[in-house]
Amino acid sequence: MNGLEMPEAPELGSLQLAWLEELGLDRRLLSRYTVRTETAPAQETPKQAGSPEAAHIPGVAAGDAASSAPAADSASTRDGVAAARGLLRSLLGKKDAAPLPLPAVPEDRPSAKTTEAAPEPGTLDALRHAVLHCQACALHQDRGTGVFGEGNTQSPAWLVIGEAPGTMDDRVGAPFQGRSGELLRAMLKAAGADASADVFFTNVVKCRPIANRPPVAEEVAQCGLHLRSQVALLQPGRILALGRVAAAALTGQDADLESLRGKVWQYECVSGRRIPVIATYHPGWLLTHPYHKAGAWQDLRLARDLGKD
Ligand code: SF4
Repeated sequence: MNGLEMPEAPELGSLQLAWLEELGLDRRLLSRYTVRTETAPAQETPKQAGSPEAAHIPGVAAGDAASSAPAADSASTRDGVAAARGLLRSLLGKKDAAPLPLPAVPEDRPSAKTTEAAPEPGTLDALRHAVLHCQACALHQDRGTGVFGEGNTQSPAWLVIGEAPGTMDDRVGAPFQGRSGELLRAMLKAAGADASADVFFTNVVKCRPIANRPPVAEEVAQCGLHLRSQVALLQPGRILALGRVAAAALTGQDADLESLRGKVWQYECVSGRRIPVIATYHPGWLLTHPYHKAGAWQDLRLARDLGKD
């Protein structure tokens, strides 16, 4: 190439040309550039080049709008440049640009709020609602769901209380799932208690501790407030406390489980009523220590025979 010769002018797209004009480049300088034209695909219905619709379609380049012109004649090229310029002015916020259309907002959009009725205060439903939304201790951070308890809520003959929900309980939202629950129900049945009719099942702590660790004293103290309300509302005939944590919480004794078994303790309800408490092994413990089943059976007989005298 001779150094005195001007380089051959490249082809410009209509959007590029319009952009250069908007930046203030002289039209005479730009006139030496040719505008590249493209042919629209045959199967598509072409939009009217330069129309407001073509110039205001968000996400569609003005060059594309120009390219939808049916022929590469100069008039369509000018229209394509005009369309590109219209889009540029819109994007740059020029005064004479038509505003980009905004999506219509329906005036009567329905509220996203649910119409869940609040449970009546002072009822088990209200307490259940409070437990499932409780954030009083750190255990709420890792729970799948709070486990309030389930069973007969009308003064059940037995209130069976474990220490905390297990992994499966946390998923299902009900206590004593899995093999330990099956063993517990079989033991109760042997003691004459129909698990579906005579028993309410729950735990001292309503949210699962990570890795099924025992709940710590602060968690027991905090969630014990829920348990106290629950006992007062259920008014059971007797309480069976499963494992050391539950036994200590229900008897008020900071002692090992063996020293709490074999006696009838009294739990004083908020109403002043005294409810008998029997401490025994947790069924999860019995699964791995089956030689304690005979002792568990003695405890269940003691609980079964309460009030027979
Ligand atoms: Fe509330 Fe009890 Fe759950 Fe702690 S364990 S967040 S006190 S319901």
